[in-house]
Amino acid sequence: MFELTVESSFAAAHRLRDYQGKCETIHGHTWRVAMSVTAPAVNQIGIAADFHDLKTILKQVLEPLDHVCLNDIPPFTELNPSSENIARFLFGRLKALVQQHGVQLSKVTVWESPTACAAYSEQPRFNSV
Ligand SMILES: [Zn+2]
Repeated sequence: MFELTVESSFAAAHRLRDYQGKCETIHGHTWRVAMSVTAPAVNQIGIAADFHDLKTILKQVLEPLDHVCLNDIPPFTELNPSSENIARFLFGRLKALVQQHGVQLSKVTVWESPTACAAYSEQPRFNSV
């Protein structure tokens, strides 16, 4: 199994509802987003999927989030725009798009700072206790 990852970023404002602390007031982040896909095999030239195609898909999906207040756009008018929820939202948007290129979306990771990220996956990666 191969796993390929591409990254992009967007800058946006948000505020967390029902949160007590700095993040309850509006502020901005440059979110870095990593999209990982898996493929069982490579083609005759050793490629599972074209990185350029994957980057294009990711940039297209991130474009509506760039330079907006996330709380103003669905689903974040209702759903708290946490890094966790942003990762799950992006996973839903990206899943079908990457399948058109013959690969499976495995994970979307969203960094809200260089030292804090949340990842969403539909595959069980951890054993629950
Ligand atoms: Zn924040």
